[in-house]
Amino acid sequence: MQISAINKFSLIEFPWEISTIVFTPGCNFRCDYCHNSEFVLPEKLKNVLKNLIMEKAFFNFLEKRKWNLTWVSICGWEPTMQPDLKDFCRKIKSLWYKVKLDTNWRDPLIIKELLDEDLLDYVAMDIKYEVWNFSYISWTKLEENIYIETINVLLNSNIDYEFRTTVIKWIHDEKIIENISKYISFSKNYYLQNYKSGNTLNPNFNWESFSQNELEKFKEIANKYIKNVWIRN
Ligand code: SF4
Repeated sequence: MQISAINKFSLIEFPWEISTIVFTPGCNFRCDYCHNSEFVLPEKLKNVLKNLIMEKAFFNFLEKRKWNLTWVSICGWEPTMQPDLKDFCRKIKSLWYKVKLDTNWRDPLIIKELLDEDLLDYVAMDIKYEVWNFSYISWTKLEENIYIETINVLLNSNIDYEFRTTVIKWIHDEKIIENISKYISFSKNYYLQNYKSGNTLNPNFNWESFSQNELEKFKEIANKYIKNVWIRN
């Protein structure tokens, strides 16, 4: 498993329980608004790959902290690109940790296998844009049906999960949020995450965030289809 960074103690993922966050390098998308191009673009990724954290050191840490920590959160850039993700989850589970996976849903098969083996306790999945139009935001050629299959795997699962959309001015509007929400209606949780400008993959992508009122309006629209809608600022 390629581990590019670890946040040892975090309350960001679950405010009521402590998590360790593991970051894996590489992503199949090229979103303009990505804040971590060094972990995404192959020409920059070379430097990251020279300084990976040893898996053994990570598991030593987990062994020692068994009584303080509850969750291991595996985040990307896109963790399903790691060929040994399943083994990695098995090892974490063998230490009695709960596992959360963040994904941009590039691989429904691996998600299904992980769920079938009870290796996941929570999944957070990006829904970046309207279903059938994801390519518009990912800047990569996509087989949309694969992404839709992953949504369905999760909708039919028994675990807790969230869908989430980073909402961006000039890209998302009320109609887009309504179309996304309709598609994932009756899902367990939907988070609207406000875009923040910064060191983005596309340096010209410097747009302002939505106001709280605009976010509340999106929430109201999404709430017509999904009971639990949350705003993340
Ligand atoms: S999916 Fe996430 S990590 Fe990948 S390019 Fe888009 S914002 Fe960056």
